[in-house]
Amino acid sequence: MTASILIKGATLPDGTTTDVLVQDGTVTELGTLATKAERTIEADGLRLLPGLVDLHTHLREPGREDAETVLTGSRAAAVGGYTAVLAMANTSPVTDTAEAAERVLDLGRAAGLVDVQPVGAVTKGLAGEELAELGLMARSRAKVRVFSDDGRCVHDPRVMRRALEYVKAFGGVVSQHSQDPSLAGPTACCHEGELSGQLGLPGWPGVAEEIIVARDVMLARHTSSRVHVAHVSTAGSVEVVRWAKAQGIDVTAEVTPHHLLLTTDLLTGYDPTFKVNPPLRPDEDVQALRAALADGTIDAVATDHAPHARHDKEHAFVDAAFGMLGLETALPVVTTVMVENGLLDWAGVARVMSASPARIAGLDGAHGRPIAVGEPANLTLVDPAAKVVVDRAASVSLSRNNPWHDHLLTGRVVATLLRGTPTVLEGALA
Ligand SMILES: [Zn+2]
Repeated sequence: MTASILIKGATLPDGTTTDVLVQDGTVTELGTLATKAERTIEADGLRLLPGLVDLHTHLREPGREDAETVLTGSRAAAVGGYTAVLAMANTSPVTDTAEAAERVLDLGRAAGLVDVQPVGAVTKGLAGEELAELGLMARSRAKVRVFSDDGRCVHDPRVMRRALEYVKAFGGVVSQHSQDPSLAGPTACCHEGELSGQLGLPGWPGVAEEIIVARDVMLARHTSSRVHVAHVSTAGSVEVVRWAKAQGIDVTAEVTPHHLLLTTDLLTGYDPTFKVNPPLRPDEDVQALRAALADGTIDAVATDHAPHARHDKEHAFVDAAFGMLGLETALPVVTTVMVENGLLDWAGVARVMSASPARIAGLDGAHGRPIAVGEPANLTLVDPAAKVVVDRAASVSLSRNNPWHDHLLTGRVVATLLRGTPTVLEGALA
């Protein structure tokens, strides 16, 4: 561990430029500093943000270590500027017990690059029937607060109601993959619309998502509990969340980088890289998602980083696995879509990629903090003007299902510090 680091001339999210001294894991001084430190990072023209927090990461371990491990996923997270990630429960076995959650926590600590916080399953085996050991997971060493059957929707309203009632006791939240399976048939693989008809691909409509979002905000109101809408993808879902927030219902929502920029038109080439759940939508939805992220209706950007081995992804479109990589490119996508278009300033980026996700996940004691004296030094240094052409071969993830390959994006993570220790320096793993 490097005990002292001086970051020279960084610009904070609010626009002020300052030197930042980090000692023993904590921010200890701000201002124009003549101090000598063991390491100096020149940050002229760079933005210093609180370390990014991802509410939605698939690390694939245990079970699919051929696609990603906690270690390789942690590397991708660090390179992407993250200091904490929530690891989804749809592993094999499923994270539906205290022991399973503690195992993921321990794997994350052993990797040591990012805080890996396990998400607990809502139902045993993600089967949607019987509640998992929510209380035991919450009381375990992993202190699970976010519960999700992600990949599947908690479809039975009675089960969802009970889960919402249960997590209230310990300030937990249910993160719902909103998708009514009866409106999204077993072979559906893209957005249902004119294009899916032309391509001959079975689709599912936006309303399959929207009716579950609508149902769940009413259940959250009924139970006075807290619901989080994972990967919002349609304008209709945005309208429901906006309405629910106006009623004072305790709902939060996230959007993925890919739903902020990529549209369903990409499917004309039948490239399974662009097969994802929820599916890429038309441009009207993309515009509504951007506006909702800018005005706070959507609280957070979450990657839904979903690595897949070649043999699961390289198939005919209908047979390929759902999902795409996201950790290493999230910040550049948000910079390109939201900052360059004037929809968010850097304080806004810090809010949607760090402070809000940290608060939603209950990690806000250590992450998503203001950059101030006495705060933990979980920090991300960004070059806001760098132009980078994404190369999927350069990824530190084990998988290569990268939808941003060959895209020109603005913004680059230069350094990441986890409790004062550099995990990334000069854009590469330290
Ligand atoms: Zn999902």
